[in-house]
Amino acid sequence: MSENPTSTAPPPQPTGDGAARPEEPTSSGPKTSSVGLHGITESARYSVAEMGPRRSLHALLAMNQVDGFDCPSCAWADPSPEHRKTAEFCENGAKAVAWEATRKRVGPEFFAAHPIAELRRRDGHWLEAQGRLTEPLHLAPGATHYAPISWKAAFALTAERLRALPDPDRAVFYTSGRTSNEAAFLYQLLARRLGTNNLPDCSNMCHESSGAALAETIGVGKGVVTLADLTDHADLIIIVGQNPGTCHPRMLTALEQAKRRGARIIAANPLPEAGFGRFHNPQSARGLAGPGTQLTDRYLPVRINGDLALFAGLNRALLDREDAHPGTVLDHDFIRRYCDGFEACATAWRALDWQRIETMSGLSRRQIEEVAADAARAGSTVVCWAMGLTQHRNAVATIREIVDFLLLRGNIGRPGAGPAPIRGHSNVQGDRTMGIWEKMPDAFLDRLRDEFGFDPPRDHGLDTVDSIRAMRDGRIDVFFALGGNFVAATPDTGVTEAAMANCALTVHVATKLNRSHLCHGREALLLPCLGRTERDQQAGGEQFVTVEDTMAMVHASRGRLLPGSPHLLSEVAIIAGLGYELFGDDLGWRTMRDDYAVIRRHIEHVVPGFHAFEQRARQPGGFMLPRGPHDSRTFHTATGKARFTVNPPTAVEVPAGHLLLTTVRSHDQFNTTVYGPDDRYRGIKGGRRVVLLNQEDLHDHRLHEGDLVDLVSVHPDGERRAPGFRAVRYPVPRGCAAAYYPETNVLVPLDSTAETSNTPASKSIVIRLESSSAPAPEGAAASEGDLQADHRAPAPTARQ
Ligand code: SF4
Repeated sequence: MSENPTSTAPPPQPTGDGAARPEEPTSSGPKTSSVGLHGITESARYSVAEMGPRRSLHALLAMNQVDGFDCPSCAWADPSPEHRKTAEFCENGAKAVAWEATRKRVGPEFFAAHPIAELRRRDGHWLEAQGRLTEPLHLAPGATHYAPISWKAAFALTAERLRALPDPDRAVFYTSGRTSNEAAFLYQLLARRLGTNNLPDCSNMCHESSGAALAETIGVGKGVVTLADLTDHADLIIIVGQNPGTCHPRMLTALEQAKRRGARIIAANPLPEAGFGRFHNPQSARGLAGPGTQLTDRYLPVRINGDLALFAGLNRALLDREDAHPGTVLDHDFIRRYCDGFEACATAWRALDWQRIETMSGLSRRQIEEVAADAARAGSTVVCWAMGLTQHRNAVATIREIVDFLLLRGNIGRPGAGPAPIRGHSNVQGDRTMGIWEKMPDAFLDRLRDEFGFDPPRDHGLDTVDSIRAMRDGRIDVFFALGGNFVAATPDTGVTEAAMANCALTVHVATKLNRSHLCHGREALLLPCLGRTERDQQAGGEQFVTVEDTMAMVHASRGRLLPGSPHLLSEVAIIAGLGYELFGDDLGWRTMRDDYAVIRRHIEHVVPGFHAFEQRARQPGGFMLPRGPHDSRTFHTATGKARFTVNPPTAVEVPAGHLLLTTVRSHDQFNTTVYGPDDRYRGIKGGRRVVLLNQEDLHDHRLHEGDLVDLVSVHPDGERRAPGFRAVRYPVPRGCAAAYYPETNVLVPLDSTAETSNTPASKSIVIRLESSSAPAPEGAAASEGDLQADHRAPAPTARQ
């Protein structure tokens, strides 16, 4: 394998989860418009630099097309086949494809030249920028370098370690949201055949709170809105805790369609994001050369963690309007026929104290009542949200309160209405549908048993946070990750990295090198797989896989590029290979590897909603999964009705002199992957170690823009420190702050999680600022060396 000629070069300008040299980022303030010509030139510049012009054209024109591959980045829904454009992707989708389909390679020579200890000092951007992995690699116990290993030996080694476990629950099988339906189904089958439900996934860290709240209140743990509901029907769209311009950019096109049809759009978010402003649609002359479209009609600068209070206030205001004009605001017929629990909620809302609502939300009563007036006028309302809502201690209660808001006016089960949690990774929703969950219901496990003739384990397994705890405490021997960058995605970085080192064997299936591969167990395997963009040739012919988008559309994805190396295997082939090594051909592992249609037949028998799967997967655009609340106002809850729930408003208490920090992603970033050092939409250039602060907070802390500060998080178990952040003046609400993930994961205590969902509370971290003389830390030490948990110094308690 030829090594990337740039792979031994010194790291570029520091980016990612560490800094090779002190950063000097500059700030020009948030932008008020998005995309336009700049979006096109950035996409082209990035694609050509990574892939070259021909490969760029070939890849990008196949992306999100009916006979092409699904974007490996976010989970935004594709338009119906007849409405797709020739270029059906956004700037960040182009970056994701270029990142995967790059011409750069890291082969065995690279690993021979770079010991693990040296690679650990590199930042995350540099590691991934070296290129695609080309061959399976093994890190022997005590070795300093990864070295090549054959696939046969890698399967044998993994199987031997798994077979030797005294208890299958001493293994953990983690999944990232890029995994296809077919690979995910096979993966959960492998884990359960082994005898464990330890199937943590990235969903545990993002929309678990949405799933918990929606399953309880409307009986399905996912959104119940279609793309057409947004574009063609909704009168009012409320976007909460979501940054569509960066995290789901093609949503802007859908919002523009809604806007031009006359819908009202309201955004509630602590940061005024560019995507809320004027959208310059690159597919239209009006967008490119004209004024573009102003997307939002109202922007509410809600305080961090103030969303529960906001929606409680909205519900109170709707009730007040109904009391003033009976029969004109609430949908009494819907509430009577389809819901329960309304009276208890009405009593609680009437008792709310507006002053507390204002303090907690950071919004005035008048601002909230104006939104209630918009909602009362709207025939149909959609509420969209993302991780700005889900990663708080009170996240589940907040989402339940949003469901209350929708139920009050019958906004579920009719066109243009409903809850819409917007998923962040391309098949994170599908993976859960396929059974990647530590607590799948018995009905699913029964069908799995009937289909395959073995009894799956029934005890619930470990989610992500509990897996880290178990690894930390020496209760896990084998950690297997199907994609992702576990140590960069998870909280309490130092604890997580130490937990990984506690395992006997860590195995990562990956396309590129990342930090998780360097925070290994006593022995490690790095198994390179095909990317979404690449052709998947098996004994049964060329294969396609399927994915489920955020609107529950399931469709095919066919790679179009030649594999990055002849030694790559598909994720399906890797799992099936390991299954065969472990169990022989008891479940037909080889047949499933050779022909993915066989897997789809099993899925059809086990997973509800997948009848005639093969046939419907092959039809252009795929098919939509049934969702009772959307299709027929059927609610599979404990009472068979949609459930109003009482959610007393809470907000994180911030001691005097402290701030509430939210983690955010930059525009040059997708999840843990950092494409570059800039955040164009927020006007930040040349570095990521910045903390965004309100002007008055800067003044109160006697700081000036550009001053270097340490961020110190306070938690009952001690303090955590992230040193060397530049203060940037920014329009965040008073008392709030924002800084980039994953650099600030170090500040999130493992035990700080959402109630019920156990999702890390990464969006509301109590911090204080300390002036720092230290330059930004060297290399990847940003995640390891930054951790200075001081358990001798108990911190002020952040109470709910
Ligand atoms: S909106 Fe999401 S799915 Fe669509 S191209 Fe952009 S990153 Fe990919």
